Amino acid sequence: MRASSLPLLMKCTGAAVLPCVEGKSEAAEKAADWGTMVHYWAQTGIIRGPNKRAERALEKAIEVAGVDRLSLWPTGGVHEGALSIRVDGTREVSRRDDDREGWITGHYDYQYWLFQDVLWIDDLKTGKFYPNPEPGDERHIPDIAVGENRFPQDSFSPQQKTYGLALSELLSHDGPVSVSTTHWPRLPLSYRHAEPMRSWVNYSRQEMLTHWRALELIYEESCKNRRAMLGHEDELVLRPGDHCRFCPVRDCFVRQEFA
Ligand code: SF4
Repeated sequence: MRASSLPLLMKCTGAAVLPCVEGKSEAAEKAADWGTMVHYWAQTGIIRGPNKRAERALEKAIEVAGVDRLSLWPTGGVHEGALSIRVDGTREVSRRDDDREGWITGHYDYQYWLFQDVLWIDDLKTGKFYPNPEPGDERHIPDIAVGENRFPQDSFSPQQKTYGLALSELLSHDGPVSVSTTHWPRLPLSYRHAEPMRSWVNYSRQEMLTHWRALELIYEESCKNRRAMLGHEDELVLRPGDHCRFCPVRDCFVRQEFA
């Protein structure tokens, strides 16, 4: 499982077992290319995109928003690394991109020590900003303020929490972990042409370990769902909601009401 799928899988593990749409839509391709281009620029200072138009769009965004990539993260940290965490009951972590059964894997963007003993992990996100609508709208999420991004670029995302857990294990760190998300959305344009937004959340060691158990439960349910798909006695568990809009399973029979 990819760590980037966790915001969806924590809401519905059906997304891990039902057949997904093959390939990416044109819009998803554009978004992925933009993300790759921004990450490359953030790490090297070089703008190298899929085409001149995209490169000019990033140049303009940097200029209009006044973004200085060197001021986004302190010097002395570690940029970009692979992480994997085992969730099938045996607890292990690795710095490899271990896309194996029973593992969750992904890449964090930045790691640094704050006040010498607080592990800080930051993730740069470039996905679209989805404002949380007013109460009464079926897409409204009561846990966050109206106008805040509702899916999935927030620092509370289980993706970032998983990076924090895996890195604290790898670094034998049993102290606090600060996780942040630096969100510089490609769309809408008003957000692309504004400074990135950074949001933070702090976790204790116990919260990190509780998260490991939550990941194991997600994996257990995915396995049950896979058995259900094969016609075994387990029941297929699907949890539809606003997140269905972001699910790659297009022909899910319970998705329709949210499509
Ligand atoms: S469409 Fe919704 S209910 Fe169906 S698998 Fe995806 S997230 Fe689950």
